[in-house]
Amino acid sequence: MEPATEKRVTMDEITALAKRRGFIFPSSEIYGGIGGFYDYGPLGAILKRNVKDAWWRENVELRDDVVAFDSSIVMNPLVWKASGHVDQFSDRMIDCTICKHRFRVDHLKDASKCPDCGSKGSFTEPRDFNLMLKTWVGPMEDTAAVAYLRPETAQGIFVNFKNVYQSARKRPPFGIAQIGKSFRNEITPGNFTFRMREFEQAELEYFVPDDGKDMAAFQEWVDKRKRWYSDYGVRADRLRFYELTEKERPHYAKAGIDVEYLFPWGWGELESIAHRGTYDLDAHMALSGKDLRFFDEASKAHYTPLLIESSAGMDRTTLTMLVDAYEKETSTDPTGKATERVVLRFHPKIAPVQAAVFALARNKPELVERARAIESDLRRRGVRTQYDEGNIGQLYRRQDEIGTPFCIVFDFDSLDDAKVTVRERDSMQQERVSVDALAGYLDEKL
Ligand code: ATP
Repeated sequence: MEPATEKRVTMDEITALAKRRGFIFPSSEIYGGIGGFYDYGPLGAILKRNVKDAWWRENVELRDDVVAFDSSIVMNPLVWKASGHVDQFSDRMIDCTICKHRFRVDHLKDASKCPDCGSKGSFTEPRDFNLMLKTWVGPMEDTAAVAYLRPETAQGIFVNFKNVYQSARKRPPFGIAQIGKSFRNEITPGNFTFRMREFEQAELEYFVPDDGKDMAAFQEWVDKRKRWYSDYGVRADRLRFYELTEKERPHYAKAGIDVEYLFPWGWGELESIAHRGTYDLDAHMALSGKDLRFFDEASKAHYTPLLIESSAGMDRTTLTMLVDAYEKETSTDPTGKATERVVLRFHPKIAPVQAAVFALARNKPELVERARAIESDLRRRGVRTQYDEGNIGQLYRRQDEIGTPFCIVFDFDSLDDAKVTVRERDSMQQERVSVDALAGYLDEKL
């Protein structure tokens, strides 16, 4: 349940802040936008990159048993035949004959009355609607040229399984990881960037031998992912790992867990972790006629490894970071006046700006020059910085709203004592730190 004492942020507030501060804009907005597509602004692009980097660092760079991969978005259409997407990747949809709006049957609470126009008995019969976006490859727009934009990144990994393990000289247990765009022609995109038609996934396909340790590998992965969300500060009471029942899992899956976050509208899936057995490699071997099995030198035998898959949405994770970090709080300023501030409590590794450096006065070259020098020094050392000048109250408010953990002020006293004021975002505590010690001070905290 949602914590009772807190008033949750609304999606309207998140959307407005995202636009105002340059996190996320509706795509092609000057032409009226296009449903289910969004653009990341200057801060949003960095936030999303930081989320992806955090995933990549943990799951690829820090592991010697996982290799990197980057497959094409358009593949031979037979890939999607084998995977089942051509025949089965569809949602049941229904149209209202009065207002012409289209709905997913499984999203309708009451299938007798249109939720948009209120008409009763106005629905068409349910029909299957394939979610893959189609295009044509080559100069002819005929059926032979039809291709699909991938609806998931995983299949690129499966069809390359042999190429990868041979070239990387890996043997199960080992994983192949990829982050990339996927496309689904969702019937009802919505909830801001939660359900889009173009989005990014981070997928890890971990292949294990059939030696009785596969469920342990599955559990290990689940625990790892729990730690990751917690390390980056996602509130534990808004996160759950929902275990799918046998009925809810595909017939071939031995186990499955959905990672869900409590958004303002309710629980929503961020990631799915599944034990998929040999299903995916089997399907591609059957249609392609190629042997994708692993050859074990020790036993001189071929076998098909089992697959533990983790598939996480990077846009949904980025949205989670925004929603989870958001807080509106009332505090008293030094004069005793109550003030309200909006603050994004981003983890410092995720925050788009880590340290903002201010000159206290705009028209004092001696302050501006020194503050700018500090900012460029920190930037060179790898801190994500921003320089600004002017009214200090306004500057703090702006940085709070974009989640900057530290603000550094170069003031008139700094000219004499070579110290700056460092103000911490969450506690709003300030301390004087000598300019020489500043890089080390931040290094420890970021
Ligand atoms: P849903 O039930 O919400 O449609 P799904 O179960 O079809 O999602 P998967 O196929 O398991 O999703 O995809 C793995 C992850 O990719 C999801 O957990 C989600 O984070 C992300 N994802 C899937 N569809 C979308 C989408 N339309 N927009 C943004 N992210 C998506």
